[in-house]
Amino acid sequence: MTDLNLPKPDWMNEELVMLEDMAANFYQTECAPHYERFEEQGKFDREVWHKAGQMGLLGAEIPENYGGPGGNFAHDAVIAIEANKAGIDGFGGPLHNAIVIPYILHYGSEEQKQRWLPKLVSGELISAIAMTEPGAGSDLQGVTTTAVKDGNHYVLNGQKTFITNGQLANLIIVVAKTDPQGGAKGTSLMVVETDDVEGFRRGRNLDKIGLKSNDTSELFFDEVRLPASALLGTEEGQGFVQLMQQLPQERLLIAVQAMGRIERALSHTIDYVKERKAFGKRVIDFQNTRFKLAECKTEATIAKVFVNDCVGKLLKGELSTETASMAKYWLTDLQCKIIDECLQLHGGYGYMNEYPIARMYRDARVERIYGGTNEIMKLVIGRGL
Ligand SMILES: Cc1cc2nc3c(=O)[nH]c(=O)nc-3n(C[C@H](O)[C@H](O)[C@H](O)COP(=O)(O)OP(=O)(O)OC[C@H]3O[C@@H](n4cnc5c(N)ncnc54)[C@H](O)[C@@H]3O)c2cc1C
Repeated sequence: MTDLNLPKPDWMNEELVMLEDMAANFYQTECAPHYERFEEQGKFDREVWHKAGQMGLLGAEIPENYGGPGGNFAHDAVIAIEANKAGIDGFGGPLHNAIVIPYILHYGSEEQKQRWLPKLVSGELISAIAMTEPGAGSDLQGVTTTAVKDGNHYVLNGQKTFITNGQLANLIIVVAKTDPQGGAKGTSLMVVETDDVEGFRRGRNLDKIGLKSNDTSELFFDEVRLPASALLGTEEGQGFVQLMQQLPQERLLIAVQAMGRIERALSHTIDYVKERKAFGKRVIDFQNTRFKLAECKTEATIAKVFVNDCVGKLLKGELSTETASMAKYWLTDLQCKIIDECLQLHGGYGYMNEYPIARMYRDARVERIYGGTNEIMKLVIGRGL
């Protein structure tokens, strides 16, 4: 992997270095040999999730009393970045760890935590978060899925789309209106254990241009009766506040993953241009190649300093939504730019799927769209000026 010649950040300790090795080993041995098959079938094997659970790579933030290792976002970040460095971009584990689980950890009742967290650590429960609908993506206040109270139950109706882990997930946090007239204040998060309910249906595993090994799906909820205990937290109407509070971590996770891809793209490309010859010399010996890679390495170095600083701030509870949005937008734009430059330096081979850079090019594009589009990130940063 490219040496960006940076000292390890303060938050990186020996335990995290060991976790890095363990995660790298897991992706190399359990995922890489089967990755083409995962791409063909459009999802990972459930067994891989169980193995990830056995190796302590799921639910890193979950405290020991709920069966977890009691880590923090640094553990999630290490597990995520190693996936991207290994080219295992489609694994839904990082979303499960750093995006879905924190909702249950932070807002779940004691009973909910006891019920779900241990199974999220073992991989028995695979999680997803369903916010987006066919008619509401950036504008989440426009969701039309409803969860209407009926005695001791809620009745859930609606449709979601583009949901990561959508084919495999058996625990799904659904953004729904408990008070359809209440706007943001009428929004709640409902936890659906899909094996236990009727009226839930998975739609197509959507055909995407990249991230082929991840299952991204439509989900349908038709008169799904949920127990009152499916409401996340103790009160209705807290959904928007809960979503907003988790944004910095969600956005930072995407930035961290972009950093992993940037390092991988540079590393592969530097190796390639040292081997490939044209006009009797190595491609790296053209001044253009060195200049392009010099620019990429400089920007990658700046990006890594920034993203490491953001992780440090998040761990201290000091990362603002604006700064997290800067990291998400800037790192994901940069990764697409660097991967594009790297692909160009591969010539025609860069366009061939058998070369890792081709897959990186396809996989990276979505990062500018999901987790809030980069335009929405600029809106958030602009509001804070
Ligand atoms: C592979 C993949 C995985 C996903 N995973 C999940 C998931 O697990 N869970 C989930 O809930 N969602 C998921 N999404 C959905 C994703 O978060 C949304 O696609 C994204 O938020 C954008 O919403 P939209 O697609 O409806 O686009 P729209 O909101 O329709 O936006 C269209 C365009 O308009 C721009 N735009 C919108 N509003 C403004 C504004 N106010 N100012 C300026 N420009 C604006 C957008 O930036 C964009 O360029 C996933 C999407 C993909 C592609």
